[in-house]
Amino acid sequence: MSSKKVIESVYELVLKRNPGESEFHQAVKEVLDSLVTVLDENPQYIEARILDRIVEPERVLMFRVPWVDDNGKVQVNRGFRVQFSSAIGPYKGGIRFHPSVYLGIIKFLGFEQVFKNSLTGLMMGGGKGGSDFDPKGKSDNEVMHFCQSFMTELCKHIGADTDVPAGDIGVGGREIGFMFGQYKRIRNEFVGVLTGKGLNWGGSLVRTEATGYGLVYIVDELLKEKGDSFDGKTVVVSGSGNVAIYAVEKVQQLGGKVVAMSDSNGFIYDPQGIKLDTVKQLKEVERKRIKEYTAIHKSAKYTEGCAGIWNVKCDIALPSATQNELDAAGAKALIKNGCKVVAEGANMPTTPDAADLLIENKVAFLPGKAANAGGVAVSGLEMAQNSQRYAWTFERADAELKNIMVNIYKNINAAAEKYGAKGNYIVGANIAGFVKVADSMLAQGVV
Ligand code: NDP
Repeated sequence: MSSKKVIESVYELVLKRNPGESEFHQAVKEVLDSLVTVLDENPQYIEARILDRIVEPERVLMFRVPWVDDNGKVQVNRGFRVQFSSAIGPYKGGIRFHPSVYLGIIKFLGFEQVFKNSLTGLMMGGGKGGSDFDPKGKSDNEVMHFCQSFMTELCKHIGADTDVPAGDIGVGGREIGFMFGQYKRIRNEFVGVLTGKGLNWGGSLVRTEATGYGLVYIVDELLKEKGDSFDGKTVVVSGSGNVAIYAVEKVQQLGGKVVAMSDSNGFIYDPQGIKLDTVKQLKEVERKRIKEYTAIHKSAKYTEGCAGIWNVKCDIALPSATQNELDAAGAKALIKNGCKVVAEGANMPTTPDAADLLIENKVAFLPGKAANAGGVAVSGLEMAQNSQRYAWTFERADAELKNIMVNIYKNINAAAEKYGAKGNYIVGANIAGFVKVADSMLAQGVV
């Protein structure tokens, strides 16, 4: 059977076996479609049915999470952990708390994580977890009770050498703290079972900043290769969470001007440049809406709805909120306004037709599995520090992160060129991530 036919039949089976999981289908299709030339040159992958195996998670856990709210009422949520691949290391990937979470979202994120972790060059397999719990509007006490109940079940399936979760949407330092406390209490062991921990109890410097900083480091490397830099560039960053905030911080440090940010209700446009201290205070400390920014800075304008942010004229766009937030209409607006680079801070924020449009129109497009790998990379460094029972300086962790991001750029660029798709970083990232995992699977036999 030709490579193309193999890919088609694997994808058909994925559709049949995972009905209704559209985000998972989308993520699988993008990777499989990139692999035709790799399979042509490596028939051993077809022989060992690597594709059929790589699209099937090693283990899927789904569980009840009961908890009691502040009014004494029993609430029931659903918890997930998808342990996708342990070919190159213990399962590693974040936990998402958001009402939109269902099995298809966790599978898509776990699948992406396999290739992303491979790209970092560190020993980490892929996994992802989460719940349809919505932390928004809940008291600290309610969040703690939920996290404790979630971890009471999850702790049976994870461990420092088995599966090491981290944060994601809706899971930051507060939630990691509550989950770590419960793991320690039940298992009676103080180990690096979660990353994104507080600095007093095993966390790594730079973990908070890592995804946003890493995103900007990889774009900076791409610009450097073209003899350019962030200096004087106008940048739009969607979202105003962990990834977005630290991407903005690094862009500003490198001389760029960020003029728009958003949350799930709408976006702000500040032609004088976003004042990041205000955004940090509103989103990190007060947990308020981005709209409040306009009450403090009169130069800014707020628009209800997120999609309009792509109409803001910019040189570089960094979608950093959530999946499928940048569609074909958004891509057309960016192209029309002369945007030259789009790099994904979020996971799969660009719809496939939007990504095609950007690439066809010569916009340099860096996919999330490469561009946002900085977060999991520093998580890997946190695991290394925990094993050594030692903490690195900020400068050392930051230098390691930068080095990893520069190498990711070089590797995906080289892989795209080697397999006849020069400048297509989607193909480059999928191939560079895949080959390492596939070769490890071959070496380890049929497992
Ligand atoms: P946060 O929860 O800190 O922030 C998420 C941001 O996106 C918020 O501004 C939120 O707005 C907005 N948002 C969430 N859902 C939607 C939606 N449906 N429509 C529009 N906006 C939305 O999450 P992170 O910053 O950690 O994560 C952002 C993205 O980056 C996710 O795709 C995540 O998977 C990815 N990522 C994160 C990493 C990390 O280290 N944190 C690592 C790699 C990838 P609101 O406040 O209104 O909810």
